[in-house]
Order: sequence, then structure tokens, then C-alpha cells
Amino acid sequence: MIKLADVEKVYQTDTIETVALNRVNLTINRGEFVSIMGPSGCGKSTLLSLMGLLDEPTSGTIEIGGRAVTSYSDKELAKLRNHKIGFIFQSFHLINDLSVLDNVELPLLYRAGMGGKERRQRALAALEKVGLSARTKHFPSQLSGGQRQRVAIARALAGAPEIILADEPTGNLDSVMGEEIMDLLLSLHREEGTTIVMVTHDENMALKTERVIRFFDGSQVN
Ligand code: ADP
Ligand code: ADP
Repeated sequence: MIKLADVEKVYQTDTIETVALNRVNLTINRGEFVSIMGPSGCGKSTLLSLMGLLDEPTSGTIEIGGRAVTSYSDKELAKLRNHKIGFIFQSFHLINDLSVLDNVELPLLYRAGMGGKERRQRALAALEKVGLSARTKHFPSQLSGGQRQRVAIARALAGAPEIILADEPTGNLDSVMGEEIMDLLLSLHREEGTTIVMVTHDENMALKTERVIRFFDGSQVN
């Protein structure tokens, strides 16, 4: 599903060069749920942003669905990002002055040919999956952290992605809400077969996934 070959990422600022990823070779299979662990600064977020096509490697190749990312046109890349990949962040990244329902519908506005009715249906179905059907008219500030993260998960799900990239999805939640979110991700994986790559600092969460990949200083260590 996602294959990185000899991937290097170097951030260059005026005076400093940081090697964030150092010749990484990594394959994530279709339908797999893997976690990425490692200390702060070891390259985890960089890895996710490359997998999510939000940034490009300095060298090496990334394949998504068996095809090198560099062989896609800009238009195809935009479609891939918008249709195949869903993101979840530690800090939820919801829009505070939009309702829960509008937040979940938002990414679907960029889907060519999708009408308002289908957007609404998909958003409602996604909110039902995360158990928030009774909160569609609420605003993010009226929800708990766990509920906000469930809205963010619904927003990712509404697009029916094949891959979910989650950057410390439980990092801002207490342990009870964290467990709830983890259970939700596990059931999505089980029921929909979604490929999930999750960055986490929490060993207990990581051990619930199928494979733990450990990084140190830009390299995989296991
Ligand atoms: P992690 O997610 O494991 O904390 P990151 O991928 O965020 O690690 O960062 C890896 C390294 O790259 C760190 O040394 C970080 O400071 C650096 N880095 C990340 N993003 C940038 C950027 N946009 N510009 C410069 N350096 C960056
Ligand atoms: P999240 O978005 O997962 O909640 P944060 O709010 O901590 O996480 O966002 C940190 C973001 O900043 C990461 O995406 C990371 O790639 C980026 N970053 C990390 N280090 C640097 C840096 N030195 N310069 C610029 N950007 C960085």
C-alpha cells in the first residue's frame, strides 16, 4: 500500500541542515494497522507527512498503491490526497466556528461532482460510526476532547479513505478517552479494513496494533 525506498528528508534552513529521515526503507501492507514510536525529533511527523503526500523526500522513492508518487500528475496527486488518505492529528484541527456536521462535511466540498445531499449523507453516516449522531449541531467548544477527536475521525472517514494517518491521536486525551479513541480506530480497522499508520508515544496503545515500528534519529531501529 505504501512503500518507502531509501527515503531521505533533509530540512535546510539558512544555517542549519537537519537530516530528519536517513535512508528509510519501509513497507506498509494494505489493511495493516501499524504504529510508529520513537523519541521527540526522531522523524515521526516527517514520515507521516511524506506518506500523506504533504511534503516530498529529498531523495529516495515513495510508492502508493504500487505506483511511484513521482509518476502521478499534480491533478492525480491532489485526488490521491483528497480521496485515499485521511488525517487525524493530536490537536484535532477542527474549525471552531463550524458545527460538528459542517466540520465533517468540509473536506467533501473539494470532491468534484459530489452534491450537497451526498455530502450530508456521508457526514451523518460517519458521525454515526463514531457515536456522535446526537451532537451534529454542537460546536467543537461544546465537546470533550475525546468527542472532538471523534469528530476529527468522522471527518477523515467521510471521505472513505484507504489509508488513515494518525499523528498522536490520543496524545491530548486522558487515559479513558485515549482508550476510547484507540478502540474506535481498532474497530474501523477490523470492520472496514482501513490501513492505519499511527504515531504514538504510548507503548500500551502501540502494542494494540499489528506492528510497532521504532525510530531513532531518523532511522528505523527494528
Ligand atoms: P518527531 O515527529 O519524531 O518529533 P519530526 O519529524 O517533527 O520528529 O522532526 C524530525 C527532525 O526534523 C527534528 O530535528 C525537527 O526539528 C526537524 N524538522 C521537522 N520539521 C522541520 C521543518 N519544517 N524545518 C526544519 N526542521 C524541521
Ligand atoms: P499535531 O499537528 O500532530 O497536533 P503539533 O501541533 O505538535 O502536532 O505540530 C507539530 C508540527 O510541526 C509537525 O507537523 C512537525 O512536522 C512540524 N515541525 C516540527 N519541528 C519543526 C521545526 N523545527 N520547524 C518547523 N516545523 C516543525
